[in-house]
Parts: sequence; structure tokens; C-alpha cells
Amino acid sequence: MIKTLPVGATIGILGGGQLGRMLAVAASRLGLRVHIFEPGANPPAGDVSHRVTTASYDDHAALTAFGRSVDVITYEFENIPTSALDLLETLAPIHPGRQALATSQDRLTEKTFLQGLGLQTAPFADVPDAIALGAAMDSIGAPAILKTRRMGYDGKGQARIMVAADATAAFADMQGAPAILEGFVNFSHEISIIGARGQDGSVACYDPGENVHQSGILRTTKVPANLTASQRTDAVLIAARVLNALDYVGVMGVELFVTSTGLIVNEFAPRVHNSGHWTQNGCHICQFEQHIRAIAGWPLGDGSRHADVTMENLIGDDMNKLVEYAKTDAAIHLYGKSDIKPGRKMGHVNRIVRT
Ligand code: ATP
Ligand code: MG
Repeated sequence: MIKTLPVGATIGILGGGQLGRMLAVAASRLGLRVHIFEPGANPPAGDVSHRVTTASYDDHAALTAFGRSVDVITYEFENIPTSALDLLETLAPIHPGRQALATSQDRLTEKTFLQGLGLQTAPFADVPDAIALGAAMDSIGAPAILKTRRMGYDGKGQARIMVAADATAAFADMQGAPAILEGFVNFSHEISIIGARGQDGSVACYDPGENVHQSGILRTTKVPANLTASQRTDAVLIAARVLNALDYVGVMGVELFVTSTGLIVNEFAPRVHNSGHWTQNGCHICQFEQHIRAIAGWPLGDGSRHADVTMENLIGDDMNKLVEYAKTDAAIHLYGKSDIKPGRKMGHVNRIVRT
């Protein structure tokens, strides 16, 4: 059933980082209010939101008050404790839904799900303990990557195994956490596709972007990506397949490797995605507004791109060059974080590429 939120309704967002902040700005432009739930003090999203609750995810009284104060709940990160979701879902609808969250929270469940849809993934094996490591190495071989099943982001919780002898050290890096061994995909480049699905089941995708990472962190995304027309279509079909299979409502980011044997799905994120920030200046309706439209039961925008764009993340010390960025015609998006730390995402700039 479609539940259309009226102007003045309140969206609850779990997490108060930069994604929550940009969702809140988009919601405010649509006449909607935002209530942020975030354990940390002074969250970036708090500056631009109607209300902020500062409490931990095991504070049931705070969760209950939050759930009662909102009309719909969404989130900006996928590692929300299950107990919090169990409570919140009794108080307001959660979009995207529990299946999308549960699937993407665990790399083993996620890859199994993607293969079940007939999509290509890296070869993988479950590594619950040290004993399983040998069998996994025998079936996957080197080079490979060992990743914790849960809680990984920005390349954290991963160890590369270049030769079989590296496997023991890689396993020690997991610090006892259940892991998955993935065969190394020989890709030419990495792309991602940002897709959205509305409450009516309609799907809209943005053009795929080409992503460059540095030290495990996204550095730049450019559109258009270097793809053939059929690869572009394939990316859209893959995203739509995942969205439909999960009966998804909201925006999703799907990360893909481009190889000579087709597109291989790395992972999906059940939320707005860093590699979709270019849409703020390359599309009439950006990924943040699209997500708000979807969860609010409004019609989706079509997501058409009106310009070529390069998005560059401002990470750590990049902030010291802010004056230089401001002298150019790059669109600057800052997250309001006062402390510069190495590897911390402080903002991003979007450059329209004029040809
Ligand atoms: P992020 O938060 O940036 O999405 P993450 O911690 O979720 O990162 P992944 O996306 O799985 O981790 O991996 C980070 C990067 O490592 C990928 O973008 C890719 O460059 C590389 N990588 C991951 N898995 C593989 C693989 N199986 N083969 C080759 N490269 C890989
Ligand atoms: Mg990734």
C-alpha cells in the first residue's frame, strides 16, 4: 500500500553523518521535517534538521520516543543493531525494508543472494574459523581478499592475500571475526549505479559513474563512465533486478567491476551512496531528493543527467585547499565537520565538465 506523506510530515533518519545531512536538506526542500537519531554528539546532520535525539541504539526509551515522533524511518548506514530495528518497526514503517538491510549487512548472505538472482560475483567461500581457511584457499586460490562478513567500510576489515603463504597473516587481521574469502577480480575499472524504487514499484536509475579509490576510500566519481552502450544497459538491468527482488523502497548504490566477461557485482548499499553525489549538480533531481520521494510515497523523478560531472571527495587535509576550490567554479558541498582527521570525509566538490 502506498503511504504518501503530506507536507509537514516527519522523516526519522538513523545516523547523523553527511548522508543524513544531505537527506535532511533534500527533505526540507520538499516541505518535510527530519528527526535524526544518532549516538554521537554534534552530528553533521543535526545542523540542518528539525530535531536530534542523541542516544545509543540500546536505549529503548529514546528509540520509542523517536519512533513515535516520526511518520517513516530511513537510515544512512547499514550496520544498525537488529534489536533497535525490531522495536522501531512496531512504531513506523522502515524504508528500505529489513530484507535489504539484513542482506547487505553480511557479505556472505549478500553474495549468496546476488548469485541466486543469476548475477555474477567474485568466487567466494565462507571462512568462519582458521580450519575453514585452508579449504577456502584450496577452492579460491591466490590472489584473493579476506574480508570480515560484517561491519566493513572504506576498505576496513580486509586483507589481501597475494600468495598462499599470506593467508595466515590475513586471517589474524580479522581478529576472530567470521570472514569471507573472495577471489581477486581482474577488472579494468570500477563503476557504480545508483537506482531508486518507489512504493508503486517504479524504478529509475542514474547513469553509472566510474569510481577511483585511493587507500580504500572513494576519491573520484565521473560520469559518463567508460562503458559500451550494452554495458550501460546491463548495469541498469542489474540494479533493477536487485531492487525488485528485495521489493525495495528508496535509493540503492550497486558497486560493479567491469571485466572482459561482463559486469561483476561487488556489493550493494541500501542507501544513498558517495558515488551518487555527482547527481546534486548533474541531475534535476539528485539521489537525496529521489530517496526522500521514494520513502515518502511520492512519484520518483526520472533521474536524467543534464551534464558531464566529476565528483571529488575532500578527505582530511584536502580541506586546507578549500580557498583554492572556492576560486574555481566547482560546486562545493561541505559536511560541517570541524575536526580534520586523516581519511575523514569532510566534503566533496562537483565539477561540471564542459566540452
Ligand atoms: P566501501 O565502503 O568503499 O564500499 P568496503 O569496505 O565495503 O568499501 P569493498 O567495496 O568490498 O569494501 O572493497 C573495497 C575495494 O577493494 C573495492 O572498491 C575494490 O577496489 C577492491 N576489491 C574488493 N573486492 C575485490 C575483489 N574481489 N577483487 C578485486 N578487488 C576487490
Ligand atoms: Mg564497496
